[in-house]
Amino acid sequence: MKIAIFPGSFDPITLGHVEIIRRGATLFDEIIVCIGTNSQKNYYFSLEERLEMLRLCFEGHANIRVATYPRLTVEFAREQHAQFILRGLRSSSDMEYEKAIELINKHMSPGIEVVYLLSSSDTTMLSSTLVREVIKYKGKLEGLLPPEIIGFVNQIKY
Ligand code: ADP
Repeated sequence: MKIAIFPGSFDPITLGHVEIIRRGATLFDEIIVCIGTNSQKNYYFSLEERLEMLRLCFEGHANIRVATYPRLTVEFAREQHAQFILRGLRSSSDMEYEKAIELINKHMSPGIEVVYLLSSSDTTMLSSTLVREVIKYKGKLEGLLPPEIIGFVNQIKY
């Protein structure tokens, strides 16, 4: 079994994440979309809300699972018997950031392989940071968020 984890904050999950996950799901036998807890970040949505959004997006997808992990990404990968970490790239600045994370992860867990997919032209401008601004000021969420979670987001943030 080829298992990949797709770690992130998903605060909230956007169509950019979904596009990478869907493409990844054709490459691996199983993808675990997992919410990490970065101790230096303050989140807009609670962990429970972010997990519920992932559930709404991927219920019914046989080879996509969702999870949370309050520990190091490589430890979670090892526990799940995942050989791969999947990440998305939008720009060269994403790449610089990812390079540093990959080196640290490989230092801790040399066996893990990181696989990057380039974002599509439709979603390359999407970031959770920008989408949070749109949510805050009640802008149009269609085309930014997965349709499965728009009702949920509108109901919890006003
Ligand atoms: P983090 O908090 O670790 O930056 P994110 O939740 O923002 O995590 O993102 C998780 C992964 O999704 C990262 O690999 C990030 O580069 C990727 N990603 C985020 N937005 C997009 C997008 N619009 N297109 C492709 N990949 C994306």
